[in-house]
Amino acid sequence: MSATIINGTRIAEDLKSEVLLEVKTLREQGIQPGLAVVLVGEDAASSAYVDMKARTCEKLGITSRKIVLPSSSTTEDLLSNVSRLNQDDSIDGILIQLPLPSQVSKHKVLEHVDPRKDVDGFHSSNLGSLLLGQETLVACTPSGVMELLRRSGVNLQGANAVVLGRSDDVGKPQAVLLMHANATVTICHSKTRHVAEITRQADVVVAAMGRTAMVTRDFIKPGAVVMDVGTNKVSDKETIERLFGAPSATNEARWNDFNRRGHIWVGDVDERSVMEVASMITPVPGGVGPMTIAMLMKNTIKAARMRRGIAC
Ligand code: NAP
Repeated sequence: MSATIINGTRIAEDLKSEVLLEVKTLREQGIQPGLAVVLVGEDAASSAYVDMKARTCEKLGITSRKIVLPSSSTTEDLLSNVSRLNQDDSIDGILIQLPLPSQVSKHKVLEHVDPRKDVDGFHSSNLGSLLLGQETLVACTPSGVMELLRRSGVNLQGANAVVLGRSDDVGKPQAVLLMHANATVTICHSKTRHVAEITRQADVVVAAMGRTAMVTRDFIKPGAVVMDVGTNKVSDKETIERLFGAPSATNEARWNDFNRRGHIWVGDVDERSVMEVASMITPVPGGVGPMTIAMLMKNTIKAARMRRGIAC
């Protein structure tokens, strides 16, 4: 068996086309959706993510504003910037680019975002609403995974789902979303014993640990669906060769990436071995990653609607 690849890039494009139409409809009603991204410091990767978000906004007709603060910023500096954005009626969504410098209280800053503008779905009030099954803004990555499952025709009704990871941003909301979709959910974390025995019972596995290629074929029941959220930077040639084989026609793109950048991105799933047993799998890159930005755009439109009492 060789698993079907779930093409996250294509599905994310479909989703963005839908957002483009929704933006058009809102504009016809005199509403111009706007997203503000707050970036602290000059970390190259964070800055690249923020620019990518701004470019996507531009393509979809969403106004974007980038607020760059020095890396020496305090919690108070961030709180006052967030307050301004909370009060700014032209802003529907506020995103705090993580990670924040160690002197800043991430918790205080995220809790200060107006929950109605919390397009990352990290505010405790939105997480609470999610738990209660109420319509709310939900974290982009786990809701992106749900869209991929839905658009790939995966039946979650009564399915056994295992989520690897229990972070507030991914694992916990993922488990709740799967439960609301009527799956029976197990959450594993770093203290879980015999993880592979648990995942082998699963019809759907969502891996969100940040552990390079930890999920190998012996973790997976034949025919299971495997969603790989993990994004791990791998810079050593030996690991790449072990995971993907020596350069050849089948792995040319990966080796070209490595030769160009000096690193590649690898998921939490050992793609080569899991492909042989799973029925569907998301690749890294090109699986869950592109959906995260698409869902951010969708959440911005949702926030614009909800804030004005327009049905979603
Ligand atoms: P995180 O906050 O570091 O959480 C990792 C979770 O994995 C923790 O709950 C941890 O357990 C668990 N874990 C670690 N080692 C484990 C093991 N050996 N067995 C079972 N569970 C284990 O990370 P995160 O923010 O959730 O992100 C997870 C991964 O997803 C990262 O690679 C991140 O880069 C990626 N990510 C990708 C996207 C995307 O758009 N594609 C978005 C967000 C995150 P404990 O709680 O016990 O420590």
